[in-house]
Amino acid sequence: MGNRAYNFNAGPAALPLEVLQKAQEELVEFKGIGMSIMEISHRSAEYEQVHNETQQLLKQIYSIPDGYQIQFLQGGASTQFAMIPLNFLKPGKVGSYVLTGAWAEKAIQEAKLFGEVAIAASSQEQKFMKIPDLSEINIHPDSAYLHLTSNETIEGAQFPSYPDTGNVPLIGDMSSDILSRPVDVSKFGMIYAGAQKNLGPSGVTVVIVKEDLLQDLPKTIPTMLRYETHGKNNSLYNTPPVYSIYMVNLVLKWIQEQGGLAVIEKNNLEKSGLIYSTIDQSGGFYRGPVDQGSRSAMNITFRLQDEELEKKFIKETEQHGFVGLKGHRSVGGLRASTYNAVPYASCKALADFMSDFQKRNG
Ligand code: PLP
Repeated sequence: MGNRAYNFNAGPAALPLEVLQKAQEELVEFKGIGMSIMEISHRSAEYEQVHNETQQLLKQIYSIPDGYQIQFLQGGASTQFAMIPLNFLKPGKVGSYVLTGAWAEKAIQEAKLFGEVAIAASSQEQKFMKIPDLSEINIHPDSAYLHLTSNETIEGAQFPSYPDTGNVPLIGDMSSDILSRPVDVSKFGMIYAGAQKNLGPSGVTVVIVKEDLLQDLPKTIPTMLRYETHGKNNSLYNTPPVYSIYMVNLVLKWIQEQGGLAVIEKNNLEKSGLIYSTIDQSGGFYRGPVDQGSRSAMNITFRLQDEELEKKFIKETEQHGFVGLKGHRSVGGLRASTYNAVPYASCKALADFMSDFQKRNG
C-alpha cells in the first residue's frame, strides 16, 4: 500500500497492515453471521470464541505458566495505577516502586492516594536517562509488591533485564514494550499494558496476574475495580471492549505468523539499531541522551544542536511522509517509536532521511 505513512507515533501507534486488512475484510460481516462482531452479544458463542482464543494465544506466545489469569479490563494502564494499590496495598504494607521516568512517577503519585510508598531505586538524579542497576534496587522488607515501568515511553529508557524479587510480587507496567521481546513471565506477579502500542487499538488493558495474588483481597473495593470480579467472570462481568479484544486477537496471530517473540525481538533490535547507529555515527550532529545500556528498542529519543533545528527536522519529516517524530511535550526533542508493527523499511527511510538532513544542515 503505497500511501501508508511512515508511522513513528508513540501511542496510539502503528498497527500491522495485514491486521488492518483482515479487520477490513471482516468488518461488515464477521465469519458468516450476517453482522459485524461489534453488533453481537458478548455472551454469544461467536464472541466467546474470540475472547477465549485471545487469552490462549497470549498464553502461548508469552509462554505464560499455569496459575496466571489473563484479564481484559478498561480504563487504560492509568486505571491500573490505582487498582494495584487498591487491591494489594494492605494496611501495614508498603508499595515499593522503581522511579525511572514520567510513567513510573504517575504510578507512584496514584499509589500515594492509597497508602505508604517506598522508592526502591530512582534515576531521577540522572534525569531518568539511565535505568538503575538491578543491584541498586532495595526492596523494603514490608513490601506488598515491587512495581517497575519496563519501558519509559517518554524518556526512551528500557529495563534490559528484570530484578529477582524473591517473595515480593514483581509488577510490571509493560504498556510500551509488551510482546516486544521474550519475557520470563514467572518472575512477575502481574504484568499489565494498555493495548494501544504493541497489542492493538486503545480500549482494552491486558492484565496477566498470578492467581495467588488474588486471595483475600479487601471486600470494600468497588466491584469493577476488583481483580477478583474480572477473574471470577473471565472478564465478562460487564460488557468488555469487544472490538479492541478482537483486534488484539488479530495482532497476536500476526505475531505468531512472524515467528513469535524471538523473531519480533530480533526485528526490533535491527530496526532500533539502525536508527541508533545513525545517531552514533553522526559525529555529534544527533545526540542520544539515554545511557547506552538503558536505550529503549521501542522509543528512540534524540536531540539536535538546538530547538530551531529540531523544528526544521520535524517540519521536513512531515513533508516527506513521516509522522510522530516530535518528542513528548514534557521533554522536547525528537522521538521515533519503533514498535512491533513499524516495518524495517520505515526505519530505513528514517535513517536515510536523517543522514541526508545532516548533509544539508551539518
Ligand atoms: N504506562 C506507560 C509506560 C505508557 O506509555 C502509558 C501511555 O502512553 C501509560 C502507562 C498510560 O496508558 P493509558 O493511556 O492506557 O492509561
